[in-house]
Amino acid sequence: MRIDVFTIFPQMVEHFVDQSLLGRARREGRLDVRVHDLRSCATDPHRSVDDAPFGGGAGMVLMPEPVFAAVEAVDPPRPLLYLSPAGRRFDQAVARELAALEGFSLLCGRYEGVDERIREHLCDGELSIGDFVLSGGEVAAMVVVEAVARLVPGVMGNVASAEDESFSDGLLEYPHYTRPANFRGWTVPEVLRSGDHGRIARWRRAQALRRTLDRRPDLIEARGGISAEERKLLAEFGLDGDLPPTGDEP
Ligand code: SAM
Repeated sequence: MRIDVFTIFPQMVEHFVDQSLLGRARREGRLDVRVHDLRSCATDPHRSVDDAPFGGGAGMVLMPEPVFAAVEAVDPPRPLLYLSPAGRRFDQAVARELAALEGFSLLCGRYEGVDERIREHLCDGELSIGDFVLSGGEVAAMVVVEAVARLVPGVMGNVASAEDESFSDGLLEYPHYTRPANFRGWTVPEVLRSGDHGRIARWRRAQALRRTLDRRPDLIEARGGISAEERKLLAEFGLDGDLPPTGDEP
């Protein structure tokens, strides 16, 4: 998979990639991340990439010339997605969509954002990592790159755990424990030490259901509620208190 990132702070993104598992994947040729400096295409001696907004107002705006020139010089993989609070909300489903592509590209804004012609005529879409405003798209780009790359088989080398974790089937993940079995009197649930793999799998699923019910009822609603079989599973482990009504119940 190839991911191109366009930014005025290439070192920020490079450093992040380099210092994480992504860097290893890149060095070993499993992931092709290319970071491009938007200033490299600035035409004036000050390497300006921003200018004041037409119509007045606070802040500066990224100019079209250097951004178009930087992208056109590279012909990066499409879609080219502009990171923006006004974009489509990035979540695990979007990460999966992007992970299925051969590649894609990200444009990081700064200041008040980018000239509207960049959004309209250069980019193919927009992504937001949440309803808050960052000072630039770099952190958002890093979020997207990491979340996507770990879903690409062979990139991070642990597909089984990616399949098991939060959101993979619309649920939050079950709790994990490691040694010691007794830490300050807090013990690991007996079932995890039982060696009964069928029961462990059922317990984990019940825990994932319970955790999602308690913390993210919106996710339960989105997947159509709790089935009769899941209700039974919760009851098996005493986790069936306060269940919402299910569609398939009388
Ligand atoms: N004036 C813009 C607005 O109100 O939508 C915000 C600009 S913000 C200070 C600067 C840059 O940070 C944006 O161009 C965008 O690239 C990035 N950014 C800020 N919040 C973001 C978010 N929630 N998701 C993705 N990118 C974000």
